Amino acid sequence: MKKVFAKIISAGLILTMGLSMASCASKKSMTVKKGKLVMATNAYFPPYEYYDNSTIVGIDAEIAAAVAKKLDLELEIQDVEFDSIIAGVQSNKYDIGMAGMTVTEERKKAINFTDTYATGVQVVIVPENSEITDVDTLLNGDYKVGVQTGTTGDIYMSDDIGDDRVVRFSKGNDAVLALSTGKVDAVVIDNEPAKSFVASNEGLKILDTAYVEEQYAMCVNKDNTELLEKINTALKELTEDGTIPAIIEKYIPSNG
Ligand code: GLN
Repeated sequence: MKKVFAKIISAGLILTMGLSMASCASKKSMTVKKGKLVMATNAYFPPYEYYDNSTIVGIDAEIAAAVAKKLDLELEIQDVEFDSIIAGVQSNKYDIGMAGMTVTEERKKAINFTDTYATGVQVVIVPENSEITDVDTLLNGDYKVGVQTGTTGDIYMSDDIGDDRVVRFSKGNDAVLALSTGKVDAVVIDNEPAKSFVASNEGLKILDTAYVEEQYAMCVNKDNTELLEKINTALKELTEDGTIPAIIEKYIPSNG
């Protein structure tokens, strides 16, 4: 009698466990923290992301906030090393990576990219009196080039001139400081942060010849296609209703 009762209880338990697991699975949140959109960025990349006192502002921060609002989620921004963003999105530490991140075939093997929301150009910064006048001179000479670790600037330069001549920094601005103090001969970095760094460091200029053109997008875990699709819909709506163009215009005025 006792045994039968025990069996009934355990059958009941298994049934309840099974049911609650099933309901857990069906209620599984599409974000890593319920109700939140956790974004990883590297907040030293003006005007896409940078600190205004202790708040992270910029094009990416504002677009992400607008997307989060559409998805009825609260945006949480985490400032991390640029080259740890993709791994963190892969391991579901963050929902999205948004850091003026260029769409590349290599990165697509690890994560999915949303539709693109902006374009960037890799440019070369040199001292005003530099003998480096164009990209060819830079590539063919014996010059040392500063880059931000793991960025496309780093990848292209390492491919084009080899590791020996590439000096890596964890922040773009540190590469620019090294240029100011003569530790490197040039810096390869995205055009908009380049303008801002040149404006705040005397004696530097950007070469007229652009190096590579790129598209920026957010990255999302490959398994989270639900979030990817929702973000793409939000991006489309926010582009069509003028929100995204207005955010970009605010930080990069087209007449200036
Ligand atoms: N666009 C470049 C890349 O994706 C640099 C991005 C960055 O430094 N935040 O590699």
